[in-house]
Amino acid sequence: MSDRLPGFSTLAVHAGAQPDPTTGARATPIYQTTSFVFNDADHAASLFGLQAFGNIYTRIGNPTNAVLEERVAALEGGTAALAVASGHAAQVVVLQQLLQPGDEFIAARKLYGGSINQFSHAFKSFGWNVVWADSDDIASFERAVTPRTKAIFIESIANPGGSITDIEAISTVARKAGVPLIVDNTLASPYLIRPIDHGADIVVHSLTKFLGGHGNSLGGIIVDAGTFDWSTGGKYPMLSEPRPEYHGIRLQETFGNFAFAIACRVLGLRDLGPALSPFNAFMILTGIETLPLRMQKHCDNAKAVAEFLAGHPAVASVSYAGLASDKYNQLARKYAPKGAGAVFTFSLKGGYDAGVGLVSKLQLFSHLANVGDTRSLVIHPASTTHSQLDDAAKVKSGAGPDVVRLSIGIEDKEDLIADLEQALGA
Ligand SMILES: *Cc1c(COP(=O)(O)O)cnc(C)c1O
Repeated sequence: MSDRLPGFSTLAVHAGAQPDPTTGARATPIYQTTSFVFNDADHAASLFGLQAFGNIYTRIGNPTNAVLEERVAALEGGTAALAVASGHAAQVVVLQQLLQPGDEFIAARKLYGGSINQFSHAFKSFGWNVVWADSDDIASFERAVTPRTKAIFIESIANPGGSITDIEAISTVARKAGVPLIVDNTLASPYLIRPIDHGADIVVHSLTKFLGGHGNSLGGIIVDAGTFDWSTGGKYPMLSEPRPEYHGIRLQETFGNFAFAIACRVLGLRDLGPALSPFNAFMILTGIETLPLRMQKHCDNAKAVAEFLAGHPAVASVSYAGLASDKYNQLARKYAPKGAGAVFTFSLKGGYDAGVGLVSKLQLFSHLANVGDTRSLVIHPASTTHSQLDDAAKVKSGAGPDVVRLSIGIEDKEDLIADLEQALGA
């Protein structure tokens, strides 16, 4: 082997995986087992006491999931990762390590609709209070900081309009406030943007979307950048204080720059329980092997479709950061030079009715609530994903009544454009 560090495409295929030591199997096997036999009583005790790493029970860890964790950590440039059952589970597990009841976290208002719901309602019932800020106004994050702020949460490419977030500017606010920056990198994937390179401390994903990439398996993952010092000011007792669950060990002291990933596993996943099925981990690993190829095609198709729509007389506006005229184009050139992603919105001159009409006339696009599938998808956010918001909040989050969201797949772009053309013209 040469001393060359492997490139992104090589890592996407190989990181974390070895031929199976027992059988020689080259693809990562699905270790479809709930539990693992201990060598002896001492081995069992050391695993339970966190003195040794190893497999106990699939709720806490599984060898198929471990390959997925190592692979995504490598692609994101983190120290370690933890796979969980869904993107939403990743968000719960992350914040459970950081917030006590009565604490606050700041979140960008432009977010996946499900995250807006989760933060506004479910998290409130845990006593975790979200304070909204506007990613187009960095000072709004600074103004939102209070002594109870424990984290800042943003999306790298933000739902639903595909806007690009200035990660470095917001990471400066987080550093000054002494809190970690969490970046949901679902819409970009590490192929387009690696948030840790721009100052993120924690990256979360819905693996359900571009990483799995085929619309067939739910999953989520948490990546620890290893950058944050959890010991300062006693703000993060789950990481800095002796844990009664584990004979009084302090996680940061014991595990250093991957303590956050350990906390998520041994305090979050162990006790809350949203484990990823090894079968889903296998499906998602298979998807990741082609991530660089798919993501480039997704982006190239999205740009062609956005250009077509921008020139169509029935279209009022297109919000795609890959267009030279878009307000996020500068940020796209800086953060996502290979492409501005494949999820974006446009609005029709005919308003709400035209949006609903278009969705019903499209044939190749599937009308459903997902993104990041090989297939092209369409949805009208105001009546679906963002329907719980009031009108002003819909507009603020980029999901006004006239807005249609597309997730562009990897079909032939000419076929996608032809489908849109017939639906817009009819
Ligand atoms: C889908 C999605 C989520 C939630 O992920 P699930 O896997 O559906 O739980 C979170 N963030 C973004 C940006 C998403 O697209």
